[in-house]
Formats: sequence, structure tokens, C-alpha cells
Amino acid sequence: MNAPRRQPVLGILGGGQLARMLAVAAAPLGVKTLVVDSAPDACAGQVAPLIAADWTDNDALARFAGDVDVVTFDFENVPAESAQRLAERVDVFPAPHALAVAQDRLAEKTLFRECGLSTPDFMTVDTRQDLDAALAKVGVPAILKTRRLGYDGKGQFRIRSLDDADAAWVELGAQAQAHGLILEAFVPFERELSVVAVRGRDGDFRTWPLTQNWHTDGVLSLSLAPAPAIEQLQERATGLARTLAERLNYVGVFALELFVKDGQLLGNEMAPRVHNSGHWTIEGAVTSQFENHVRAVLGMPLGDTSARGFSVMFNWIGDLPDATQVLATPDAHWHDYGKQPRAGRKVGHATVCARDRQLLTSRAAKIAQGLERQDQIAPLYTKE
Ligand code: AMP
Repeated sequence: MNAPRRQPVLGILGGGQLARMLAVAAAPLGVKTLVVDSAPDACAGQVAPLIAADWTDNDALARFAGDVDVVTFDFENVPAESAQRLAERVDVFPAPHALAVAQDRLAEKTLFRECGLSTPDFMTVDTRQDLDAALAKVGVPAILKTRRLGYDGKGQFRIRSLDDADAAWVELGAQAQAHGLILEAFVPFERELSVVAVRGRDGDFRTWPLTQNWHTDGVLSLSLAPAPAIEQLQERATGLARTLAERLNYVGVFALELFVKDGQLLGNEMAPRVHNSGHWTIEGAVTSQFENHVRAVLGMPLGDTSARGFSVMFNWIGDLPDATQVLATPDAHWHDYGKQPRAGRKVGHATVCARDRQLLTSRAAKIAQGLERQDQIAPLYTKE
């Protein structure tokens, strides 16, 4: 009799839709997953075993570390101490030091600049006086952001004129003491792009084609991949992502969010995990970001990151629309995260694929029509 076969177990801190899609991608690789989330009904628990425990529960984390071969994250704001404590017991990818850089907008922007990626002008703000000084230097319009714990436009205040400074301080002043703030120049960008990249344990590095993104109220609403007119930008973005990854000795998938201004790339932020703007890779690329993240953190060879054709991803925020139109469209793919509807919550997405842009835009337009999202589809035509 052969010895019983032992399958590798991937531990994931955070049990949202990213953990859910990682678990689904891990299964065909023969990889089991175990998820930790403080919410017992976290949506990854519908597809993988879930431990309901707080990330600061040391006993629960110690048990979790004993049950898995490697730990990763579906959320970048996992406390750095929890990640560090786990790293003392088990392999953790991305490593806590990389997570720490991406958790702090100041450290992140400083690293971008060191790696040759320009950023919007910024100044740190710890007091009300600092805010006045920063506004004098950075100018208006500007965005005041928390240095830590911000994502999807949360913890941000748009300052249109100097008269808004008091209101901004009322909103975010309390955060200044706890986490520090940063004032960033508002960039009138031509467009927003992201590059999703993966680095293996052996240093192998790949990027998916640049994706163009549209946000509504700071939350991703639509992605188009490959983004149009990116010939030179792709090479530059890939080079920058590689430099960042090597500097951080990064293992796994990450996304670099970029603004294009006067044809040049500016760094907005880095997400140290699989990313919403890479969801199209599930059906639109040879290997998805989720599969490559699992491969990377477990030390398997990375898969091909080429696009199979052209893809548009619609994000479903707050509530799911009727699925009928998407399901009736050729090469359109429905993703329901199994969450309860709630304002501002990411509850699902759909990806539409096609072999050429014309077919893609006509398929996407048909879906958009029923959703009152034609205004968002319009840029797909005009940007080509
Ligand atoms: P963030 O959470 O920093 O990625 O911000 C969410 C979204 O707000 C971005 O994707 C942009 O659409 C917008 N945004 C953030 N920072 C700036 C900026 N400095 N200038 C213009 N738009 C910004």
C-alpha cells in the first residue's frame, strides 16, 4: 500500500471574495485552503473551511499556522504584528515587510520614487498646522488621505479650495494622531491603468497586460483589458513592477495602480494581493491571477499571463443585477460572491470576453444597456 498522499494546504487571512476566488483556483492544483476571518459567514467559507477568529487571536493563529503549509492574505490591512507572528511559525507570502510598505502610503510613495516611478506631489500631515503648510506647498485641488487602513476611496477627503480645509480636518483630523495623514495633489489624469504582476519564489516574474480602469466614488466600476494604446507604457509598467518586486523580494501577485498624465505614468498605490482589476484574467488570460498567486506562494512554476483576447469586467456594487442578460451573452461570465447586499459592498462581477475589440464592445454594450451603465461603456469606444 502506498503511503497516504498529503495535499498542500494554503492558509488565507481574510475570507472575502478574493479568498473565495483563490480557493476555487487552488482546487484543481490539488491545493486545499483554510481561511481565517472574524465573520463566521465570510463568503470564502462557502467554498473552503473557515476558522471564525479575530486576526489578533494569538491562540487561533497558532493553531491555524500548525494546519497550513503557507499563509497568504486577501486583505492588505491585516495587522502587521499578526503577519509577523505567523511568519515565525510558517512561510508567509508576501512577507510581512512587503505588506508593511503597502500598508503605509508614505512608505509606498517613497519606495515608488526610489524605484524611478513618479508620484503626485505629496506632504505628510500630522497636525492642523501641517495641513495649512501642505496646502500651501501642494496646492488645490488636493486629496487628504489616511496613511493607513484606507482602500477603495475610504479615508479620503477631496479638498477643492482652501475653504474645505476645516471640513477635511473635521472628517480626518482624528485619524492624524492614530495613523498620520498625507496630502496629495489631485491629478487630472487622462486615464487610470493598473498592472497586475506575479513573482515566484524562484524570482520568476511576469505581468498581465495593462488594464484600464474606471472608478465611481473611489470604487472600481469597470476594467478593460488589454488597455488600448499601451505599447510603450506596457514595457515601462512591467519594468517598474519588476523593480518594486525585486526591491521587496516580493512573492505572489500584486497590483500597481497608475495614473496616466501627459502620457507619463504616475504611481498611485500598490495592492499586495490579487486585485479587483485582475478579475478579468479568470476567463480572459491563459492563467488567472488567482491560479498564479497560488502557484507562486507554493513554489510551483508560474503560468502564462498572456491575454486570450479582449475582456471587460463589470463590478457589481451594493446589489447584484439580474443575471439573465449576462448569461445570455456569448463568452460572458457571471460571478456571484454569495454575499448579502449592502450599500458600497462588492457583491459580484461579470467578465465579457471576445476575440476582437469590436465584438467585445458590442457584447459589453448590450449588457450595459440593461444596467443603465451605457455612460461607462462609452469610453471603450472613444478611447480606441
Ligand atoms: P485610492 O484608494 O488611493 O486608490 O483612490 C481611489 C480612487 O480615487 C483612485 O483610483 C482615483 O480614481 C481617485 N484618486 C485617488 N488619488 C487621486 C489623486 N491624487 N488624483 C486624482 N484622483 C485620485
